[in-house]
Amino acid sequence: MQNILNYINGKHVEAHSGQWIDNYKPATGEVYSSIPDSDEQDVNDAIVAATAAFPTWSKMPVGKRSEILLRIASLIDENIDSLAMAESIDNGKPLWVAKSVDIPRASSNIHFYATAALHLHTETHAMEQSALNYTLRQPIGVAGCISPWNLPLYLFTWKIAPALAAGCAVVAKPSEITPMTAFLFSELCIKAGLPPGVLNIVHGYGHKVGSAICGDPRVPVISFTGGTKTGATIATQVAPMFKKLSLEMGGKNPNIIFADCNFDKALKTTVRSSFSNQGQICLCGSRIFVERSIYAQFRDAFVEETKKLKTGDPLQDDNFLGAMVSKPHLEKVLGYIKRAEQEGGKILCGGTQIYPEGNLKNGYYLKPTIIEGLTNDCSTNQEEIFGPVVTIMPFDTEEEVIGYANQSVYGLAGTIWTENLTRAHRVAASVQSGILWVNCWLLRDLRTPFGGMKQSGMGREGGFEAIHFFTEEKNICIKL
Ligand code: NAD
Repeated sequence: MQNILNYINGKHVEAHSGQWIDNYKPATGEVYSSIPDSDEQDVNDAIVAATAAFPTWSKMPVGKRSEILLRIASLIDENIDSLAMAESIDNGKPLWVAKSVDIPRASSNIHFYATAALHLHTETHAMEQSALNYTLRQPIGVAGCISPWNLPLYLFTWKIAPALAAGCAVVAKPSEITPMTAFLFSELCIKAGLPPGVLNIVHGYGHKVGSAICGDPRVPVISFTGGTKTGATIATQVAPMFKKLSLEMGGKNPNIIFADCNFDKALKTTVRSSFSNQGQICLCGSRIFVERSIYAQFRDAFVEETKKLKTGDPLQDDNFLGAMVSKPHLEKVLGYIKRAEQEGGKILCGGTQIYPEGNLKNGYYLKPTIIEGLTNDCSTNQEEIFGPVVTIMPFDTEEEVIGYANQSVYGLAGTIWTENLTRAHRVAASVQSGILWVNCWLLRDLRTPFGGMKQSGMGREGGFEAIHFFTEEKNICIKL
């Protein structure tokens, strides 16, 4: 059984506690590796290393920093097969998803920020003959980056790449549920020649490691992706220290399907946006609103297409869904399905576990589930489920569906399906959401702002926005 290790000051080390946490393989339900049960002593080591590395890293010519990051990106590309396999085993996601989405996107995150750093610029403001103002943009210091389990390496790099490119040193904490690719990534960083201490990865529980990073005054900037409840805990903890904080949190995304949509495209993409990665993408649609005149036709076709999706062994390419990430999460999602029924929901398909033959029989498999007959205000439609479970509801007017979409504490993402361009613009402007896709889903341009409104987020990642976040602006005014 493999022991995953912390990566501190350029070296792989065990936790001070000497304790380990079991790491499960979701496809089989077996423990297959262990991670260090780190605490504030390990976080302290990481912060000391990062603080020592920061002056040299931040003052290194940006072209040189960029070169090192590009070497890391190339090493990800060279190791795509083994990283994708590791991600699939650790998370339960289909191997084809890890290979086509997670790992290539991890590499492109690093590539994007390694090159974006070369183009960072600031403004000058001349005051006619009297003075010249210019802005210095300086890396803040040691950044804390905390990431979730659903897209492990992809979201880990989405934070550390802009932080490192900006010139910050980093103390990072991957999810304890999916630690493997962050560990493999640390091996690639050593190979690429990343100087010791520039990136430190401390494994372990959120309430120990995550909380120690957030609570330490030597870490002035925190970037977090995860659940809204955890985000609230972190916001409360760091507020008295006035840390810079970026929060990417949960969602309850609406899919709005008008009668004038391209039916086949809307159908095909809605299947994907509902059940990709077992519904465990923060951008997955979970409340599907269909205009009444096509409701029955769309619902029947949606159920039929969903029933065709195969769920099972993540390593088999014909399975669209693999295993849920963990037993507790599977049980939580099953609990939501039960509650939906208690609230009057009718299960149109799915709703139950799958027990494949052989060594996969104890894996965490759940059939893709569609629920009908619920009102938008019930708890099933208000709370994030984060699994392969969606509800479907009819609507009559544009105004009504905008009201439904916005009747949520969340505001992360949504899709709008219509061939009426004017309506598309009008509805997109009215839905309270950080990201809206019109006639598509999950198209990604790294230059665009990414994040949520309301309880889905605070701040934006992506583009220069993310590099700027890890810097402090300073205006310098020169009297002429
Ligand atoms: P989580 O909040 O349980 O954990 C996220 C990370 O925070 C983990 O590394 C965890 O160990 C750490 N953590 C836990 N408690 C902490 C604490 N007190 N202090 C500091 N760190 C702590 O979330 P999860 O279950 O890993 O991920 C699923 C959630 O993430 C869903 O709600 C999903 O919507 C959200 N998510 C959001 C986005 C986005 O971009 N908005 C992307 C992916 C996932």
